[in-house]
Amino acid sequence: MRSITKFAMEDIKLPQKEILRSQGIPDEASLSENFERIYMEAAELFQELAEPKAIIAGIGVSDFEEVFRGEGLNEKENPVEEIFRKSSHLALFAVTLGPVLSEKVTELFDNGKYAIGYMLDSVSSYAADKLADLAAQHLYAEIVGRAAPANSLRVLNYSPGYCGWHMSGQKKLFEALRPEEIGITLNESCLMSPIKSVSGVLIGGPGEIHEFVNSYPFCNTCIARSCIERMRNAVMDAGG
Ligand code: SF4
Repeated sequence: MRSITKFAMEDIKLPQKEILRSQGIPDEASLSENFERIYMEAAELFQELAEPKAIIAGIGVSDFEEVFRGEGLNEKENPVEEIFRKSSHLALFAVTLGPVLSEKVTELFDNGKYAIGYMLDSVSSYAADKLADLAAQHLYAEIVGRAAPANSLRVLNYSPGYCGWHMSGQKKLFEALRPEEIGITLNESCLMSPIKSVSGVLIGGPGEIHEFVNSYPFCNTCIARSCIERMRNAVMDAGG
């Protein structure tokens, strides 16, 4: 299975409170009229300029072992390795919001329009993460469409650069997935272009395979601790 999907803009929900929370603004904060205007302007620019796309390609465990090994720089013990070995379904994925949006963010900063630039950057980063969740939902729907899934099937996305999977893993991932087909390229530092892109592996299996104790040595320096939220809100529980 290898597919390219264009997502509809209405599939990407942009809850203002959640986006502002990601900027450290509490839900109960009172926002000035000017702030609200900047937010609305950023949301409108996003709607106008984003071109959400995904490429997803199924992969077997032994082939993924090779991809995951990458340049041999992963942490010796890491959750991704433990999880993918227990999976029932694996697929490489890359999603992007397209070049025009990223170029607009750069242009705004270059022209000193920092407030709207920062807000558009923030909205876009949130949306790129949501796009990766949509890719996981896409794989979930494929699995369900082919056969009744095991109880509590969950599909979650994991990316190089997080949780012990070294950033240099992008190289093997790109070789195997070839997301250039939807316009995503990788530079020498393993950074993607367009910037608002996410790549990695979708891992499907019984919900419990995604649960782990986040006490790896590298967790000490992790600020995001996003695994907690992810474990709580897996893409879909049994029955959706
Ligand atoms: S605490 Fe951070 S590094 Fe550790 S597993 Fe969770 S998200 Fe990954």
